[in-house]
Amino acid sequence: MLEVLRQPLEDGVVTISRASGTITYPAKFMLIGAMNPCPCGYFGHPTKECTCSNTMVSRYQKRISGPLLDRIDIHVEVPPVEYEKLADERVAEASAAVRKRVEGARDAQRRRFTGTSLTCNAEMGPSRCVISAVRKGRPRPC
Ligand SMILES: [Zn+2]
Repeated sequence: MLEVLRQPLEDGVVTISRASGTITYPAKFMLIGAMNPCPCGYFGHPTKECTCSNTMVSRYQKRISGPLLDRIDIHVEVPPVEYEKLADERVAEASAAVRKRVEGARDAQRRRFTGTSLTCNAEMGPSRCVISAVRKGRPRPC
């Protein structure tokens, strides 16, 4: 089922074909997913032992195809968090401070995309991405 997300992730639309015809709907979305590193969930864990064989770990991780992984822009490995830290009731960073950073980033994107219909990096095609990097004197893929 995950593989059918490739088209909407790539094109921002989903096309449904039936005998009576074909229809295309807008389908821009942000995909956020999580998975364990192996069937038991402890592969790479700092204190608990994984009970899976290398073959099981490899087979499990290949359940998500390379083409689908390629369409997910950010991959983050999240280490386990101890209960005491999760239960800590100290106040974290204020939402207003986070909002200020997000607004600053959005302002930078608006300046960057002035004169285009783009609003964020996800809307950039590969050619615009490289051109933008070259224009700033950094000819590297983004
Ligand atoms: Zn395991």
